[in-house]
Amino acid sequence: MQYEQIHRRSIEEPEAFWAEEARAIHWHRPPRQILDYSNPPFRRWFVGGQTNLCYNAVDRHLQERPDQLALVVVSTETGTTREITYRQLYREVNAFAAVLRQLDVGRGDRVVIYMPNMAEAVFAMLACARIGAVHSVVFGGFAAHNLALRIDDARPKLLIAADAGMRGGKVIPYKPMVDAACAEASSPPPKVLIVSRGLDAGMARVPGRDEDYAVLRGQVGDAEVPVEWLESNEPSYLLYTSGTTGKPKGVQRDVGGYAVAMAQSMRTVFDCAPGQVMFSTSDVGWAVGHSYNVYGPLIGGCTSLLYEGLPTNPDPGIWWALCEQYGVRTMFSSPTAIRVLKKHDVDFIHRHDLSDLKYLFLAGEPLDEPTAQWIGNALRKPVIDNYWQTETGWPALTLLPGLDMKPVKFGSPGFPNLGYRMKVIDEQTGAEVAPGQKGVLVIQPPLPPGCMSTVWNDDERFLKSYFGHFDELLYSSLDWAIRDEEGYTFILGRTDDVINVAGHRLGTREIEEAVSNHPRVAEAAVIGVHDELKGQVPLVFVTLKQAAAAEEVPALSAEMVRQVTASLGAVARPAHVHIVNALPKTRSGKLLRRSLQALAERRDPGDLSTLDDPGALEEIRRALGI
Ligand code: ATP
Ligand code: MG
Repeated sequence: MQYEQIHRRSIEEPEAFWAEEARAIHWHRPPRQILDYSNPPFRRWFVGGQTNLCYNAVDRHLQERPDQLALVVVSTETGTTREITYRQLYREVNAFAAVLRQLDVGRGDRVVIYMPNMAEAVFAMLACARIGAVHSVVFGGFAAHNLALRIDDARPKLLIAADAGMRGGKVIPYKPMVDAACAEASSPPPKVLIVSRGLDAGMARVPGRDEDYAVLRGQVGDAEVPVEWLESNEPSYLLYTSGTTGKPKGVQRDVGGYAVAMAQSMRTVFDCAPGQVMFSTSDVGWAVGHSYNVYGPLIGGCTSLLYEGLPTNPDPGIWWALCEQYGVRTMFSSPTAIRVLKKHDVDFIHRHDLSDLKYLFLAGEPLDEPTAQWIGNALRKPVIDNYWQTETGWPALTLLPGLDMKPVKFGSPGFPNLGYRMKVIDEQTGAEVAPGQKGVLVIQPPLPPGCMSTVWNDDERFLKSYFGHFDELLYSSLDWAIRDEEGYTFILGRTDDVINVAGHRLGTREIEEAVSNHPRVAEAAVIGVHDELKGQVPLVFVTLKQAAAAEEVPALSAEMVRQVTASLGAVARPAHVHIVNALPKTRSGKLLRRSLQALAERRDPGDLSTLDDPGALEEIRRALGI
């Protein structure tokens, strides 16, 4: 059936539509009511239904596919590969759940998981889901302070941590960060469970608090732990947003709605059927990792590939080698990762047999045209831009190859996903703008199943952050967008990233695209800075593919300024183009424009806890003469 028809039905008759979709998962008790929207903008899906994410991801497949691979974990850091069938996954998850029970973790208790992409991270998540504990995975690359912030917000009964992660062959011990975070936190967890890979031989243990997973695992043996049936709207997990625009928000997800969204999107968006293989290069600590490394593929009865390591180790062909070896059908990655690969010979792709690979999905940040073109030409497969947020938990704008594949348009993540009623509205009047006009991208609630229920412990912040900007009943994505005549939506950047030059509103993204088209530019960041005359003017920071000689710099900068005015007009003329070695980014690879802007305006750069490389900001300071 046509996308338009199904999408219309999904938003005009949401209850009928989602009642049918809900059949894709197992319900211990069927829902009494499909949608309760009596307290807008809060909504509850599948009210009264009882289900369990772990049961749907694991137990349910034991009959039909016990010996199929459920999870493949490849680490080019430790040089190991683990292939885990559904039967083995069932055993490992039950054992982990038994250990959690021994540590007195139960329904509704929070568990913080601080681990890299390793099999036990997945076992731990599913074990929590099995017993109704609420997991909150904290990205392993975060330092002690970030971990402490999340501990204090989630107040976990248990923290599960790896002994160490590895990056580029270097061991990064986690335990010192765990200890520092527990010391900093005002409500540290009473127990810490360490999953050791033997990477940190001298690891210190706190008696009475620290437990060793291997020891407890040995004690529980092949224990089976019954599934805890949860009401559809109980919390399943918390996941904090990247913190690009401020203090991270604890996105709270439900059980039933999420399971249904996962089952549906595996089919309609990712076109990945039971028995087929999905490879997401994300870290389990991100939204993509939760949805498409763990819950989506496993609920879908697929094989999920999890990867620990750099995309360039042992060589830049490693991901394609894995696609060939495991017959990956659907691959999911980020523009940042592809930009890394783009610096290398395309032959690293061509030397592999990628006949099983059908699609590459990219999400998380704007997909610039040079990157999309490069990877599209190299793979000769559709490259599908995906727009979503930690809050939505699954794609909000996408193409749906599993349903009705529309042509790819560069620069656009496509159309509203099923169940998403989206509009582009004028920020002043709140009225829907005409095609081709810029506005704010909003979702008209009720938010579809799978999206956040609220901000953990803070309904007020949920309402204040996302609603009430224009109209109490519109969820603001806080992103600018344009919809064209054919209904394709283009994302122009964050609403706090707009530059107002003498009354003209310019998205930072459009200017970044214009600069990025310069052949020497690797990446660009654009911010608006105060200007007496015009209100604001764009200021550009770029990194180059290959370093420039000092004497080349003035001419290069001037060329880039011309490049912008040539494509966007004189109004977009940058005040200056600074050439730097690195741009300040969050751990998830997103540009920290707000900090750049604050520095340029000589203000405090704000919360830098998610900054990846402090050196990058130092260099910006020098470039600005601070
Ligand atoms: P915080 O909300 O804490 O500031 P964040 O918004 O960076 O952090 P995420 O939820 O990880 O945290 O990112 C979602 C945002 O990423 C979107 O709102 C959008 O700005 C950007 N984004 C995601 N996918 C795309 C895409 N395909 N094209 C353009 N931008 C995208
Ligand atoms: Mg956000």
